[in-house]
Amino acid sequence: MFQSTLNFYSLLIPLILMSMGFVTLLFCKLKSLSNYLAFYAIALICVGLSLFLHSIFIPSVLLQLLPFVFGLYFLSCVLHAHAIYLRLGIQSNWKMLFILLSLGIVAHAYFAIWYDSQTLRMLITGVITACIYLNNPIDFFKIKPQLKIDRYLKALTITLTTIALGRAILLNHLVVPTEMISTSAMLWASTQLLLIVIDIIFLGIFISCSIQDILDKLKLERNRDPLTGLLNRRAFKEYVQQMHWVDQPTPKALMIIDLDHFKQVNDHYGHFIGDLALQHSSKILSQSLSEHDRISRIGGEEFVVILNNASPEHALNIADAIRHQLYQSPLYYAEHQVKLSISIGVSFFEEYQYFDHAFQEADDYLYQAKKMGRNLVQSKFSPV
Ligand code: GH3
Ligand code: MG
Ligand code: MG
Repeated sequence: MFQSTLNFYSLLIPLILMSMGFVTLLFCKLKSLSNYLAFYAIALICVGLSLFLHSIFIPSVLLQLLPFVFGLYFLSCVLHAHAIYLRLGIQSNWKMLFILLSLGIVAHAYFAIWYDSQTLRMLITGVITACIYLNNPIDFFKIKPQLKIDRYLKALTITLTTIALGRAILLNHLVVPTEMISTSAMLWASTQLLLIVIDIIFLGIFISCSIQDILDKLKLERNRDPLTGLLNRRAFKEYVQQMHWVDQPTPKALMIIDLDHFKQVNDHYGHFIGDLALQHSSKILSQSLSEHDRISRIGGEEFVVILNNASPEHALNIADAIRHQLYQSPLYYAEHQVKLSISIGVSFFEEYQYFDHAFQEADDYLYQAKKMGRNLVQSKFSPV
């Protein structure tokens, strides 16, 4: 039943592939790494297992088990392709993948058990492998990845597809007589070696991608206020500094917004509802702004908004609309109705080099709004 010449070295490559898969899967579980890495890890285990089974049985037994062995191989291709698509942000065509997987198994059963033809089996393997990797060809070729690493991933996938197809066609029709394919140990070893090299390159790319994901996540967390999801003070400062260098003179407005009597909200309803009120307020503030504007929570209950390319009249309309909107939208929680209001100081500037001056001015107008009774917008155009 088993190959008599079986030894550790002949099983080395399948064992390496499976170990790579298990170690990667373990890391994914322990460190909560990206999904696509986990899919690829399972794909490695499946392909390793498929090669392992392919190596241990004598040809007559293997022939009966081929549908299962190739089923595992096609499953590994499906998981691998899905990992690639997940990373590139493409939808996998599951219906097509299911059909291809079933077709691969049925074809191997037919051309192994009923009508033994290695030539046709190899051709089918190549064609189905290529189709699995290109299961959603329109989106795959249409997508233009922004990151270099994703462009490598796409190029490597195209290379792999070409190798799968080319290898099947070449081996069967041009170079090697059919009976040599199964007898040539060199050929078998070199194919396996090629497989392991490609899998290691893919693994390297997937690991780099998940490191990139972690870095992106850290950067996002570093720049976001965890309570409201708005930019935090640090990110806001960075934004202003960047704009300082690339800015064009256009009319801009700066609002400093402060919730009125917020300490009383906390004292009266508790800190938990105070937090909900902050989330509620920041949602209303964000909803009134466009994608060109920037909002940030720079302190406990203080927000800063920059309106890019906005005339003073337009900016004051927006400020008053925000103030009015929040005043009209109390927070409802359990049996509580929490009334909220804000005071806003507004200043105007043209270039970011005058930002500090504008900030001081807006802060002064905010102070004025508080002094005049709160729930007000104040600017240089307000009657004193
Ligand atoms: P004013 O109208 O003059 O601005 O009065 P105020 O009570 O809003 O001003 P003050 O600066 O005295 O109080 C701000 C309060 O905001 C104090 C603090 O308890 C509360 N606060 C700051 N950050 C948070 C937060 O993250 N969550 C909650 N629940 N409260 C916060
Ligand atoms: Mg306040
Ligand atoms: Mg305050």
